[in-house]
Amino acid sequence: MDNGGWASYICQCTNNVSLGAYAVCLIEKTPTEKLRVQALDWLKEHCPNYSDQDVYDAYQNATVYMKNQSEPYSASVLNAYPIRYNETIYDNALETFEIRYEVFNDGMFFGMGLCGYFALIILLATLFRLYKATGLDRILHLSTRFKFVRFLKSNFLVSSVYGKLCKDDHWLGAIPNRLESLVILGFVLLNLLTLFFHYRSNGTRNVYWPSSYKQIVRYIADRTGYISLFMANLTWLFASRNNFLIWCTGWKHSTFLTYHKWVGRSCVLHVLLHSIFLLWSSVAMGYLTSRQLQPYYRWGCVATVACSIMTIQGSSFFRKLSYEIFLVGHILLALFFLVGSWFHLAHSSMAFWFIPVIAIWVFDRVVRITRMVLFGGYVKASVELHREDEVLTVTIPNYNKSFYKFSPGQYAYVYFADMESDWYFLWQSHPFTIVSCDETEGIKFFVKAKRGITKKIMENMILRGVSKKTIRVAVEGPYGAINWSIKRTDNALLYSSSTGNAGPFMYARQLLALNKTANIKFYWSVQHMHSLEWFSQELHFLSQHSDRVQIVVYLTKEDEFADSDTESTSSLLKPVSKEDYPAVELRYGRMVVDEIVAQDIEECVKNSHISVVSCGHPKLCDDIRHVVKNKIMENYQIDLHDDLQKW
Ligand SMILES: Cc1cc2nc3c(=O)[nH]c(=O)nc-3n(C[C@H](O)[C@H](O)[C@H](O)COP(=O)(O)OP(=O)(O)OC[C@H]3O[C@@H](n4cnc5c(N)ncnc54)[C@H](O)[C@@H]3O)c2cc1C
Repeated sequence: MDNGGWASYICQCTNNVSLGAYAVCLIEKTPTEKLRVQALDWLKEHCPNYSDQDVYDAYQNATVYMKNQSEPYSASVLNAYPIRYNETIYDNALETFEIRYEVFNDGMFFGMGLCGYFALIILLATLFRLYKATGLDRILHLSTRFKFVRFLKSNFLVSSVYGKLCKDDHWLGAIPNRLESLVILGFVLLNLLTLFFHYRSNGTRNVYWPSSYKQIVRYIADRTGYISLFMANLTWLFASRNNFLIWCTGWKHSTFLTYHKWVGRSCVLHVLLHSIFLLWSSVAMGYLTSRQLQPYYRWGCVATVACSIMTIQGSSFFRKLSYEIFLVGHILLALFFLVGSWFHLAHSSMAFWFIPVIAIWVFDRVVRITRMVLFGGYVKASVELHREDEVLTVTIPNYNKSFYKFSPGQYAYVYFADMESDWYFLWQSHPFTIVSCDETEGIKFFVKAKRGITKKIMENMILRGVSKKTIRVAVEGPYGAINWSIKRTDNALLYSSSTGNAGPFMYARQLLALNKTANIKFYWSVQHMHSLEWFSQELHFLSQHSDRVQIVVYLTKEDEFADSDTESTSSLLKPVSKEDYPAVELRYGRMVVDEIVAQDIEECVKNSHISVVSCGHPKLCDDIRHVVKNKIMENYQIDLHDDLQKW
């Protein structure tokens, strides 16, 4: 009677012989009262026209007319009586079903286990965030009191996985830090465990698959299929911009995207194994030809191919080749995977597994549009080109200021409606960190021109010989968890380079306003003196508080003894002079990060709390991470905020 819920039960629910057979089985083969009630409930759920009494009456009736299998019967007439089952076949079938449902349960159990693994880590991260946010860390001083805590913090929370390598470019892309790598390692090991254990077979007694080998092949296919459903949901959740877990954990979106990649790989692994083993099972059982004609089989193939391609096209190599092509391709393939999986599962009434996926996707898109609307839609922005540095400052004076609030370090996705550029740029959104000296005057983004839309806008301005123009932009955000712990710090050491200065500047501004932090140092590394021009408003703002903040600018390609006024190599350049920035300490050459950061930390009052913020060139961030890691072991109370995000 259990046909997996694919067809209707009209026949079974109206046929007396069928009811009689079911009643005999139900009453004679249910060992406990509880099971009997469950079996009755199941019957009434599928055949609401039957009552308990109908079943008992049917049992009485059936036992009178029931015949054994061995009794002769006429094949030419319709035999309207139940046939008593063969006990051996019954026992074998029962065992077969038990094993089969055990496989489903295992799939659910392992799938939930893998999700539970991340749930546990997210819970711990949330508690850790609360611990920081409530200031408990500053009261308990665990890392300064206990060497073991210091060791954990230095070697797991802060350290890169190996040497200094973390954000700096590697052929594999950015390398997760040591803690993230351990989380991933644990996840990979758990994935392997889900595949290799707890398989049971019953050889030739099985009524579905006549050998243990055929059973195991099928069970692997079923188990991996179930696990992939869990992984698909988690993959989507971790990818979304509006993921509430970012708020809970305080993790960066890049951290979630790192996990998204690994959970996605796990999903693809299980989908592939599901497909391969089901194909194997189909061949072994001789079902392949008939299955290939079934739509559910074909949609399954679509989903498998789509997600396999996604894994390859999502690699660092293709992302770097062209980020936008990767992104559009990734979304289209995800759509194919979703639709393919939906129709594949609809066949066995399991498509509902993808409802959360659709809900997450739709929710994310709706919130994204809402955020843009709340900002004020497409608003006017003035774009200024600083050609020598290939930097654009995008200033937005008017937007919905009463609604749109942001915190230091937060970023927003900008949609450039630059009608002089190509139309397809309209759909692109690029993340940039929000800067503002005074919100009433508007917000700004410092945009380094890369190879895509940012370069296009720059080239367009050069072509037209203008250094300023007005375009319309839409802003979606703000994104990024609010950093509560930095507000209470005693020492803020802020290091940045190029357009990475946005976040550190905003932290400095916040700390100056709060008037609690005794020691603020703001370092910025750029190539030339004229670079100060596009950051002048912010430098002047900091200079007004020069009694509380030390401002140091490294000019990496400038000679100390050359004329301080920049020789204008372009008509677009304004001369910039040292005298314009009396409160700014100019240093020439490269910032020797190891020495400077170590010295700054050593200069902080012993036992005071230190926040180190880094953003800019990946190597700068990696060097700072390395110094902080070592200094924590020397018993300094340091929190590292590496604001650089790459994905
Ligand atoms: C959270 C965050 C904050 C950022 N803040 C700033 C900032 O304040 N100033 C600044 O100059 N740059 C910032 N960036 C980098 C900036 O987003 C990219 O340089 C920009 O998107 C490049 O656009 P493009 O079309 O010219 O890039 P392309 O030349 O096409 O791509 C260059 C690289 O930029 C990155 N990138 C491109 N598009 C995206 C995207 N949609 N989402 C994420 N990364 C992308 C990719 O790593 C890609 O390899 C930030 C990035 C992130 C993730």
